Amino acid sequence: MADTDPSAKFEKISDSASRRIARFIEPFRVSPGSKVNLAKDFDPAFEGGIKKKEDGVALLNEGIELLATYQARLAAQDTYGVLVVLQALDAAGKDGTIRHVMSGVNPQGVRVESFKVPSSRELDQDFLRRYQERLPSRGEIGIFNRSHYEEVLVVRVHPENLVRQQLPAETREHHVWKRRYEAINDWERYLSENGFRIVKLFLNLSKEEQRLRFLRRIDLPDHNWKFSSHDVEERRFWDAYQEAFSEMFSHTSTASAPWYVIPADRKWFARIAAAAVIAHTLIDIDPQYPTLSEDALRDLGAAKVALESEVPSAAAPNANGDAARATPPGKLIQKDG
Ligand code: AMP
Ligand code: MG
Repeated sequence: MADTDPSAKFEKISDSASRRIARFIEPFRVSPGSKVNLAKDFDPAFEGGIKKKEDGVALLNEGIELLATYQARLAAQDTYGVLVVLQALDAAGKDGTIRHVMSGVNPQGVRVESFKVPSSRELDQDFLRRYQERLPSRGEIGIFNRSHYEEVLVVRVHPENLVRQQLPAETREHHVWKRRYEAINDWERYLSENGFRIVKLFLNLSKEEQRLRFLRRIDLPDHNWKFSSHDVEERRFWDAYQEAFSEMFSHTSTASAPWYVIPADRKWFARIAAAAVIAHTLIDIDPQYPTLSEDALRDLGAAKVALESEVPSAAAPNANGDAARATPPGKLIQKDG
């Protein structure tokens, strides 16, 4: 960083890099108001012109670095929060995507929340409650590994889940899914208006690639732990899920919180695309390190004088062999190297 002005803004990503990211993710965005037919509209094997995995590695590293930089600024500004919603069918790579995409980010600034089958306590609450309770705070990136969208996915595909929710009959019977989409849209708008940006990612896996990944989990001993016969049973509901996803995209991709359908047959590509969508949102927020007020700068100067006056009178050499000496207040101490 240039010299020592503590109020210097962190270097901004170039406009052309920002436009390149926007162009790259555009094909994955579900236009608000469009009617989606998942199988027809989105190709799980799409590779976006990146021919080789090796070319992708550099891009992913670039994305990871961007996320790390922007996450630090998001935390310092402490004004906006980001909620990343991750949905997918089994074996689409949710866990690996989180691991890779967030690998450069300070763990203190990221919170991953996984949602399983609801407990009996959760079933006794309104359907958005458990998600509300695990939202990120300002300055944080929260990742929902599965999310409130399960309430219109698994619950829709297996209606016995809805029965377990003990809803009053009149709310269960009339347009229950439409009303859930509306409730979700309202809730997300409320969050956006309060400074929480929502990034919605669906990892789009083909049925054949899921079959191959399940087989690999069976064949490779160190992958066995990932295999669940429940996942294979769930595969029988493939078409019902495709339909539930299509409906969900059609109703809940909004201007403030659009869905992105990420091609997921190539894990490396899915990771690049996911990182790019999250980076795009952070670039758009453009969080800034806070600039200190005159008063705060004066306090800083006073603290510096006080600390420097503590130098032992013999002025012992420091680790670099230099004699410790007072530096003018307001100057940052430069790191070595
Ligand atoms: P996993 O993420 O593979 O550990 O599995 C979590 C399981 O919880 C999946 O089978 C989901 O379908 C299920 N699940 C998550 N949310 C809900 C929900 N709201 N209602 C019913 N089942 C759910
Ligand atoms: Mg599972």
